[in-house]
Amino acid sequence: MSLEAMPHTAANHPVLDPLLAPPFPQAALPMLRNPQLRKNVGHAIDVIQAKRAKLVAEKTDWQDLRSAASAIRAQALENLGAYLEQFEARCTAAGGTVHWAADAAEARQIILDLLREENASEVIKIKTMTSAEIQLNPFLEAGGVKVFETDLAEIILQLGEDEPSHIVVPALHVNRSQVREIFARRMGLENLSDDPQALTAAARNYLRRKFLDVPTAISGANFLIAETGSVAVVESEGNGRMCLTLPKTMITLAGIEKVLPRFKDLEVMLQVLARSATGERMNPYTSLWTGVTPGDGPQRFHVVLLDNGRSSILAHKTERQTLKCIRCAACMNACPVYRQTGGHAYGSVYPGPIGAILTPQLMQMHHAQSLPYASSLCGACYEVCPVKINIPEVLLELRSQVVNQERHHIGRFFDPMYLGLRVANFLFQKAWRFHLAQRLGRIGLRLFTKKDGWIHSLPSIGGKWTQTRDLRALSSQTFHEWWAARRREAE
Ligand code: SF4
Repeated sequence: MSLEAMPHTAANHPVLDPLLAPPFPQAALPMLRNPQLRKNVGHAIDVIQAKRAKLVAEKTDWQDLRSAASAIRAQALENLGAYLEQFEARCTAAGGTVHWAADAAEARQIILDLLREENASEVIKIKTMTSAEIQLNPFLEAGGVKVFETDLAEIILQLGEDEPSHIVVPALHVNRSQVREIFARRMGLENLSDDPQALTAAARNYLRRKFLDVPTAISGANFLIAETGSVAVVESEGNGRMCLTLPKTMITLAGIEKVLPRFKDLEVMLQVLARSATGERMNPYTSLWTGVTPGDGPQRFHVVLLDNGRSSILAHKTERQTLKCIRCAACMNACPVYRQTGGHAYGSVYPGPIGAILTPQLMQMHHAQSLPYASSLCGACYEVCPVKINIPEVLLELRSQVVNQERHHIGRFFDPMYLGLRVANFLFQKAWRFHLAQRLGRIGLRLFTKKDGWIHSLPSIGGKWTQTRDLRALSSQTFHEWWAARRREAE
């Protein structure tokens, strides 16, 4: 089944496929013009940020924890091949089956084939961004398997025919009354109130039968542990625990970078993850399972290890740190750009600063080239990242790659910005050219300078600059001229 053959989406459905999504500046415009969305996003982020700040402040060894988490993730990536093989061996010995998927298409097919072997017409799911990355749900639906999300936010999105805008709180852009409207319409509950308890009760009733009836489940993984062959999932609602205990067959989809060397590494990772993601000391539910235990939980267990561009990221020294990410979302909560645009503008299931560096790399720098520019480079993302990913450093590296790609593009020859930079490059090469340009500029700009010493309007391309700001007229004397005159006077 090709993606093209998948069911159609609503006209206002956000496009989270980097192959099809418009560039970031274009995609951000409708978000910037939507005050309700910006209000929802701003309010939700303020709440999460305040909780995180409080719990981070109570850890006097927070910076040591960050360093330890960063070192653990770096060590895992340094020896990724060996740790993955160790994970496979331990998981297999415990009764699990490990599958390797080179790309999204292969992972989707493996999962659909496994479900067909089980004669599954329905499957329940724990929230997994990796499955959204490979667009698993529409593929399974097109293959005849009905998918039921079980995370509350994912249910809201699934029923509302919407897409995630945040990696920890996927329905962050939806407020309570919008949730009420979606549930009332899709569950046939006309008198439903927007009281949080009533909304969660409605979701619980909707899901309960599915937990009891559907014998196959799909999960993601927060961590894979090489030493024991275990899988760890953290969540807040208990839906994950239900999915992990009631079904007969469990399929876990995980990116190859999710591996940790040792079981004890969880001690550090769980501390930094919970605080950074939801502002909690510990996630309410931490589930760990290793292969199959007779008479307890799923009796058939598969792990699909997904590459999908990760190996090529690993091969690059600066970019490799991207794979240290534990998907806590602290960087997007801190990002001033994300705060204004929300997540859909990033055209990928990975929004915010991590999306700005991860998505173009997963696309092998063939798509999503506008994303490395979706940043003010203020460094707030680096400061909060619990595994110390230097996101601004990677952003700059990716920007240089984009510039190198575009340098050879014929259209660039006529691009005003590139043209201007080429002229500047020519002028700055020789001092006399620069001084001459200054003199000519001073004369030319005099035509547009008003009596107050400001330029309020410029023609042509310059008009874009003066559309929103005024420009000071060039001084009648440059600093060099002023300095030389001062010295002459002193002599
Ligand atoms: S880059 Fe860092 S802060 Fe952002 S999601 Fe990943 S681990 Fe969290």
